[in-house]
Amino acid sequence: EMETTGDMGSQIMVFVRLRPMGKKEEETGSRTCVRIVNKRDVYLTEFASETDYLRLKRVRGRHFCFDASFPESTSQQEVYSTTTVEIVEGVLRGRNGSVFCYGATGAGKTYTMLGTIENPGVMVLAIKDLFSKIRQRSFDGKHSVLLSYLEVYNETVRDLLSPGRPLVLREDKQGITAAGLTQYRAYSTDEVMQLLLQGNRNRTTEPTRVNETSSRSHAILQVVAEYQVKDSVNVITRVGKLSLIDLAGSERALATDLRTQRSIEGANINRSLLALSSCINALVEGKRHIPYRNSKLTQLLKDSLGGPCNTVMIANISPSNLSFNETQNTLHWADRAKEI
Ligand code: ADP
Ligand code: MG
Repeated sequence: EMETTGDMGSQIMVFVRLRPMGKKEEETGSRTCVRIVNKRDVYLTEFASETDYLRLKRVRGRHFCFDASFPESTSQQEVYSTTTVEIVEGVLRGRNGSVFCYGATGAGKTYTMLGTIENPGVMVLAIKDLFSKIRQRSFDGKHSVLLSYLEVYNETVRDLLSPGRPLVLREDKQGITAAGLTQYRAYSTDEVMQLLLQGNRNRTTEPTRVNETSSRSHAILQVVAEYQVKDSVNVITRVGKLSLIDLAGSERALATDLRTQRSIEGANINRSLLALSSCINALVEGKRHIPYRNSKLTQLLKDSLGGPCNTVMIANISPSNLSFNETQNTLHWADRAKEI
């Protein structure tokens, strides 16, 4: 017997994570233009010109406020606990959930999602949490946790766990799925980090920069968790899907004005990122028609964005004034997403 969840509306929470200043940025003498106060408020400052900023004269400033904002020093665990624990709880009750990292290339998306062996990110911490909670709650000790990890690059879908030919999207009763996608049955957290690191190495690289993940690559981890609980009468099967998405660099989406939804002619736009913004706009405006069909990314995430599911956006930003424009754009985007 399947269980129905009571709450049917969609909910979105928006967070900002500021990464520490990088070595290169420090060496070029860049200054911090972002300040986070009270774990919520983000102050962005623009220095008018070189001479002005030497005099520390602040010219333009803006203030943003989010569900929570994480300063440089925030640990991976704290980011996970604040942003994703509730989503995982929902998934364990059968409510789909998704977590997106959005931001310019170099802003910290992959660090937040995947992290390192020493400092595993949201993907790994979420799976660890899922395993431990399922084991506590499963009525008969049985469960299944299936992982798939895929990439959308140039509107082509690829399996990151089993690289090869592009995958075709199909629509069936379960929604839109990539035909032939590997579903890896995970038994422990330990194997997951290695699996994801390997998957990440399979992401498309820019031809000119062989070891660097392309800034236009989206990586999507989908986790389907199933287990059984027992109430006084029945055994109930709980199935939930968690999607964790490391989006392509948003700098190309600069060519899109979120307010007017106009794209700048001739710019090399990432169609999936643009389509995601359009869906968010439609959701913000309460439209009945959400244009999921416009890209591979939005088709794949149709059941995880809008509708009865929980969504989290983590906007990643750099502190450096050299990235001022990208940071400003990311904060505007996140501010807009907040309205859903
Ligand atoms: P993106 O995926 O957005 O392009 P990365 O996650 O690769 O950016 O981050 C760029 C660099 O900054 C990497 O070297 C990464 O290790 C480092 N970095 C990002 N966020 C943090 C953080 N919160 N703490 C420490 N280092 C970070
Ligand atoms: Mg990355």
